[in-house]
Amino acid sequence: MDLKSLIRDVPDFPQEGILFRDMTPLLQNPKALDFVSQNLVRDVDLSQIDFFAGIESRGFILASHLAATHHKGFLPIRKAGKLPPPTKKISYALEYGTAEIELPLGSGRIMIVDDVLATGGTLQAAIDLSSSAGYKVEAVAVLVNLKFLNKMKFNNKEVFSLVQY
Ligand code: 5GP
Repeated sequence: MDLKSLIRDVPDFPQEGILFRDMTPLLQNPKALDFVSQNLVRDVDLSQIDFFAGIESRGFILASHLAATHHKGFLPIRKAGKLPPPTKKISYALEYGTAEIELPLGSGRIMIVDDVLATGGTLQAAIDLSSSAGYKVEAVAVLVNLKFLNKMKFNNKEVFSLVQY
């Protein structure tokens, strides 16, 4: 399925010089959404997964859809300050400045998903945070990998993605 044709390029958003990949058209297409839910996990042994963990906010959409499709739970990885305690928080470097994400303390085997992998800072922080909060990260996947911006690996393999630029 041609997912790229359902991803809109928006120049100079949210800042001048950034080419933003907007997946709103893909989310509005039920066939594409189903294709994504089936194929993001095509190399994953689902018997080893308890929850799909989504990174706020577009990761929530994908992780919830995966959870519903594959009859698993959902785990939110949020921007800091939004979840009630007990939580665990991590700070990480952005291109300019820092960001903080947080998740509920807990346990279980998880697959972390997000919409776009850019520099990799967010996903790496989510992996480190999940492990330190008690979860076992079994798999990670993103819809879009902006490969020219990262060399990120998980378990010595390129991060699984359905669309690459
Ligand atoms: P990173 O930490 O890898 O540099 O950035 C990844 C995070 O920024 C993801 O959570 C993703 O949602 C967001 N992001 C970065 N670039 C884009 C983009 O072009 N399109 C969308 N939809 N999100 C982006």
